[in-house]
Amino acid sequence: MALPKRRKSHAKVRTRRQATFRIKAAALSACPSCGKPTLPHRACPHCGNYGDKGVVLRIRERKQKKSKQQ
Ligand SMILES: [Zn+2]
Repeated sequence: MALPKRRKSHAKVRTRRQATFRIKAAALSACPSCGKPTLPHRACPHCGNYGDKGVVLRIRERKQKKSKQQ
């Protein structure tokens, strides 16, 4: 059975692990309608637009509309 030739120091192991588990900055893309940075594949939190599929109402506005109808 293959065995490691030498023991790896804690620092070596830690740096190797950190290279794979490091938290990366979120990949932001500009919103096509308002131009503000947004997460890809998600509705824009600023204007509620989702890609070129039109405006998706934000949850707060939707709740206000529901309360007005009742
Ligand atoms: Zn937007």
